[in-house]
Amino acid sequence: MSYVDEIYAKVVEQNPGESEFHQAVKEVLDSLKLVIDANEEKYRKAALLERLVEPERIISFRVPWVDDNGQVQVNKGYRVQFNSAIGPYKGGLRLHPSVNQGILKFLGFEQVFKNSLTGLPIGGGKGGSNFDPKGKSDREVMAFCQSFMTELHKYIGADQDVPAGDIGVGAREIGFMYGQYKRLTGLYEGVLTGKGLTYGGSLARTQATGYGLIYILDEMLKHNGKELAGKKVVISGSGNVAIYATEKAQQLGATVVALSDSNGYVYDKDGIKLDIVKDIKEVRRGRIKEYADAVPGAVYTEGKGIWTIPCDIALPCATQNELNLEDAKALKANGCFAVAEGANMPSTREATDFFLENKMLFMPGKAANAGGVATSALEMSQNSQRLAWTFDEVDAKLKDIMVNIYAKAAAAAEKYGVPGNYVAGANIAGFEKVVDAMMAQGIV
Ligand code: NDP
Repeated sequence: MSYVDEIYAKVVEQNPGESEFHQAVKEVLDSLKLVIDANEEKYRKAALLERLVEPERIISFRVPWVDDNGQVQVNKGYRVQFNSAIGPYKGGLRLHPSVNQGILKFLGFEQVFKNSLTGLPIGGGKGGSNFDPKGKSDREVMAFCQSFMTELHKYIGADQDVPAGDIGVGAREIGFMYGQYKRLTGLYEGVLTGKGLTYGGSLARTQATGYGLIYILDEMLKHNGKELAGKKVVISGSGNVAIYATEKAQQLGATVVALSDSNGYVYDKDGIKLDIVKDIKEVRRGRIKEYADAVPGAVYTEGKGIWTIPCDIALPCATQNELNLEDAKALKANGCFAVAEGANMPSTREATDFFLENKMLFMPGKAANAGGVATSALEMSQNSQRLAWTFDEVDAKLKDIMVNIYAKAAAAAEKYGVPGNYVAGANIAGFEKVVDAMMAQGIV
């Protein structure tokens, strides 16, 4: 059995019930096979893969809080500190009822390679809770966030582990957590990113993941003789990533015709009016269905099915495994030629294979959505220097980083004989830097 197959079998055996983690490990290891086979003896002796797939540490804790009826509620809290070979742990906190240890391990594992790809000195981590912020009052969200941070603060720090937002964690939650961290430690330091602009946040961080997705998409299209202007785009989700991907795609001349949330999707053939979406989602925390009530001609459909809408480009920006083989086939049959992942692992393995086999342009999440974490690292730099850069400065750096990520993924794919396979390219390019650092640092 090859080293890669042996490690994958061990991961499945030793991490029972963690299917998303198995899936992420398999995708990465499969695409690294060429590199690993070439160095098998050296890596085996150093148990490199065994160390790579085992988080350095997982912290799991109880989060008790009191709801508006005076009832005590208890949630599970986690931080997975996956790999610190190239810098302090960095990665978001997710608040969603589906959160469990396996999902956070998958996200933390992906984060290691993504962070490496940005070229910035950040290791990989991820955390969160099965708390559902939906339908909770501001006071309840604050009570939860304070309790969560009361435990988490012992394990994080500006040079140790710097969490950020993810699903269910935006400016409001980061604010509550930061306030509690400061109160407990007495430190005014850059321990969280995604902070508000009045207390150490970076301009352009809110936009970064969505904008970065469009920058790398644009780069991929240009290198393949195509352009974004005039194209019809379908985007899933209507949260942070989806909203700012829509904004930048529109600025570059594309027409975004659909957005969704976990209840259903809206189709607007004339192009989504983003100010209306922002009002529904960012101001009123409402449902995407309300868009069809507000815009004449827009149609709302309950349930899944967004990928059956004909488009040139599809950008899954909601959650993991939201786009399966059937969806991939429907996209292709309706003329879609490019897919870039704003969310983490939104395409199932079968869908990813279909895109690659059918020579569609496909940019995986770990490259395509790295703009968020990259700009978080820029926020860390500004915090350490006690400086605040302008929007244009941060945006220009973000764009450079995305262009560089494209170049690295494309070059690695080329070097290993799979040109145009950005899945392999991104994994290989991210892996090489981490492995180099791990080998140099001895058996740790
Ligand atoms: P938000 O919470 O702002 O938005 C998430 C969106 O996806 C919402 O529209 C939500 O709908 C929808 N969604 C979430 N879960 C599901 C589900 N199970 N089924 C269908 N729809 C769902 O999160 P973000 O926009 O920040 O994150 C979206 C994705 O991007 C995630 O995969 C995240 O890991 C990834 N990402 C985010 C980064 C960031 O900077 N924010 C950086 C890199 C990656 P509803 O409101 O109904 O739940």
